[in-house]
Amino acid sequence: MAGDGPGTGRARRRDDPRGDHHRKHLDLIERDRRRLWHPYAAMPSALPAVPVVAAAGTTLVLADGRQVIDGMSSWWAAIHGHRHPFLDEAVRNQLESMAHVMFGGITHPAAVELAELLVEIAPPGLEHVFLADSGSVSVEVAIKMALQFARGTGHPERTRLLTVASGYHGDTLAAMSVCDPVTGMHSMFGDILPDQLFAPQPEPVYGETFRAEHIADFAGLLAAHRDEIAAVILEPVVQGAGGMRFYSPDYLAEVRRLCDRHGVLLIADEIATGFGRSGRLFGCDHAGVRPDIMCLGKALTGGYLSMAAVLCTAEVAGGVSAAESGALMHGPTFMANPLAAATATASVRLLLSRPWADEVAAIEESLAAGLAPAAAMPGIADVRVLGAIGVIETADPVPLAATQELLLDRGVWLRPFGRLLYTMPPYISSAGDLRRITGAMVAAAEALR
Ligand SMILES: *Cc1c(COP(=O)(O)O)cnc(C)c1O
Repeated sequence: MAGDGPGTGRARRRDDPRGDHHRKHLDLIERDRRRLWHPYAAMPSALPAVPVVAAAGTTLVLADGRQVIDGMSSWWAAIHGHRHPFLDEAVRNQLESMAHVMFGGITHPAAVELAELLVEIAPPGLEHVFLADSGSVSVEVAIKMALQFARGTGHPERTRLLTVASGYHGDTLAAMSVCDPVTGMHSMFGDILPDQLFAPQPEPVYGETFRAEHIADFAGLLAAHRDEIAAVILEPVVQGAGGMRFYSPDYLAEVRRLCDRHGVLLIADEIATGFGRSGRLFGCDHAGVRPDIMCLGKALTGGYLSMAAVLCTAEVAGGVSAAESGALMHGPTFMANPLAAATATASVRLLLSRPWADEVAAIEESLAAGLAPAAAMPGIADVRVLGAIGVIETADPVPLAATQELLLDRGVWLRPFGRLLYTMPPYISSAGDLRRITGAMVAAAEALR
């Protein structure tokens, strides 16, 4: 990249009329593009990233001085907003004793406290906790648990997973194998992914009446392949990145019943739904269902640090430990990281200390009222809201760059994908924040005509 070095750049920028601040801002964008990968992006990425220099409460401060609302809770995670004093203090307190220590052969108070708290609030019967370092890894661990359980209970032939279309479970290889086969990455990686079983997407949509025929295909697949299946895996009630769909809790309850009938484990991927997002503490709570294995992530640390958790029943733990290895074969370097664990405990305690259910219900009401005007617009396929999740589904793909610019001009950060324009705001969002978000979304929908 001759002519692109610091020397020429400095010379060129010296007569930039817009001043130092602007220069620094451009510099950051350029340096980022030269070195860094972004999620699902080329190198260099097609669109320049938006530089954020600070975040507090619901606000992101951009390098050009603009302040915008984080309408994504930074990918479902920052439920309490940014720089929450209680979470900041939890990080500082933990730093006073230690940032990290290996978990092989060692334990520490932050891990024990978090595990006890998660067991206390999870559906009863989930008793044991594996603290992983990201959501995708927790899905890998959950799948390994199911496979090792099958071996440990005398069924080594049970090596496949059954799932539903429109799901999303992460980007590592086993997790990818159970993502939606069309919108997921099967077309690119199909040759090397394990061959899993897919039932149609769960129906009916949330709020409509469930009938037996809605689950007939799923039930048929499970009955036909029960001797090959180690576990069923799905996202309870809310399907996130695979389509932002909400489906009937009765479907989930029936999945549980069928798994019991056929002696197949149920893995609930609560990475997006956990910690109140759908209006219940966990997605499974809509159906009163207890999975055999449950994955938590995203909002676990309130958006501060990367951590996920896999909870399982005593029966699963016993089966896994009876396998020939006599152990669950996973152990990441940063397992149970004390900083993340202490922050997670603080975030969960903060959530439980707040009237979170009322807050989420109020957000649901605001989102429904604010997004309603989009429903009748041409080019809009559907508008739907559940808990603190609001979705405008468009007929054609949303033009990302133009839409994002319009949203930023209106003071809102969102990350549309495909035909989905959606928000999952922090629970601390004010009525004004929510009006700004829904107003910007409706304006973006209008601009699509
Ligand atoms: C985000 C997500 C994952 C993956 O979590 P990462 O922390 O991004 O690896 C898995 N499952 C669901 C339902 C998710 O929303």
